Amino acid sequence: MMRNIFLAILFFACAAITPAQQNGSASHFDGNSWWAHVKFLADDSLEGRDTGSEGLRKAQAYAVEQLQKVGLEPAGSNGFYQPVRFNQYEVDEAKSSLALITNGQAKPLSFADDAFIGTRATHASVTLSAPLVFVGYGLQIPEKNLDELAGLDLKGKIVVYLAGSPSDIPTALASHYQTAAERWKSLRAAGAIGTVTIMNPASMDIPWPRISVNRNHPSMDLADAEFNETPGQQLGVTFNPASAEQLFTGSGHTFAEIAALGKDRKPLPHFPLAVSLKANAVILTKSLESSNIVAKLPGSDPSLKNEFVVLSAHIDHVGIGAPINGDRIYNGAMDDGSGSALVMDIAANLKAHPEKIQRSILFLLVTAEEKGLLGSKYFAAHPTVPAKSMVADVNVDMFLPIVPLKILKIEGIEESDLGARAAVKVDVGFELGTPEQKVFKDWLTNRYHAPSDDVNQPVDLKAAAGYEEFTRRLLLETANTPERPRWKTDSFFRRYAAD
Ligand SMILES: [Zn+2]
Repeated sequence: MMRNIFLAILFFACAAITPAQQNGSASHFDGNSWWAHVKFLADDSLEGRDTGSEGLRKAQAYAVEQLQKVGLEPAGSNGFYQPVRFNQYEVDEAKSSLALITNGQAKPLSFADDAFIGTRATHASVTLSAPLVFVGYGLQIPEKNLDELAGLDLKGKIVVYLAGSPSDIPTALASHYQTAAERWKSLRAAGAIGTVTIMNPASMDIPWPRISVNRNHPSMDLADAEFNETPGQQLGVTFNPASAEQLFTGSGHTFAEIAALGKDRKPLPHFPLAVSLKANAVILTKSLESSNIVAKLPGSDPSLKNEFVVLSAHIDHVGIGAPINGDRIYNGAMDDGSGSALVMDIAANLKAHPEKIQRSILFLLVTAEEKGLLGSKYFAAHPTVPAKSMVADVNVDMFLPIVPLKILKIEGIEESDLGARAAVKVDVGFELGTPEQKVFKDWLTNRYHAPSDDVNQPVDLKAAAGYEEFTRRLLLETANTPERPRWKTDSFFRRYAAD
């Protein structure tokens, strides 16, 4: 999982999720086969499954072997595989620099402590100097009449914004307009040439030193030109909020004032800054290849079998990084070894227990999720079955069976009638104010995207098994209900439906 998972939490207290309580039937899972898969995927020898690495190839070979062994059919473009081409970008920091310019005086910035050049947005070497303008959250959301760029001269400027969105914007809209592509569309139209993102100190899941220590980890993007989402963006910089006050010197505003408003996600002011940014970015690029994995279990109904319910998870993780407590391997046991293991486990179960499955099930293990959801982006643009034939996707990412399963946390429950049965994305959840909430908070602070997300952490096998059983039932119910699931008429996501 790659970002701010506390942003979009919807709680769905479900008394009937424990499988034994449903119809009195027992669970098909005990957690042990699931854990065995996690152990393989998160072993040190797989080196954190970075996209393009030998470790990820080993993990994928293992997954293909498992899917093949239980008798699933290949459904990629090359057997079980769907190859995807990527470009990798890395900053050569020794040859790069950032500085703030005030009245002709340059004050160099420290990459480690103040701000660093992000290669998600900086895809080519560049030397530039440009005035800065603070644009609040930097959002234009026509549905809510929000235009933070109105009345500002951004031509040839670099915009500075606080990460996040105002609290009165619904979650789905806010996440949509905060994607790099959407944000850049409006910034580019206004003439901006680059961005400086100040992390919001009130909503940083990962503290700055941990972000900074991995800043030189190469970033990736899909290689095909159709996927360039930030054309014309020359520079993207990430700023430490603890150093952000110097950006506001002489502007008539302070960062303390901005941060205080940002704490409650209140509306922010917009104004030109008195300092300019000088950047010299040297970017190293290389191309590489990785793959999604696609398998199918054909349905039994003569016509419904041409439709698919998708079960997906990402099999990649972040690889080897800066050492924390002497450990450099970011194993990704929960993120998302847990989801990939579940996909293999459920594939084996459904194939071995041939209950009548009317629609076909598509099992999808995507790559490069940690690079910005790139494997799924590629699959959505180039699906290996007709886009319209996929009626639903149940995506499993870091479902965290680290407390007993009493509550399911469901994201997207309001968006479709699938929500009544379950949802777009489901995690093990907790009630506010309980010890479980602290367990989750501690997990995010200490293990999320850290080497300690490994197989030595405490795990609740019963919770994992219960979650698997829930997912299995959701898949079967969706595969066997004659009507396709539908987006609700007022759902933001309805506009993306294939039909
Ligand atoms: Zn992740």
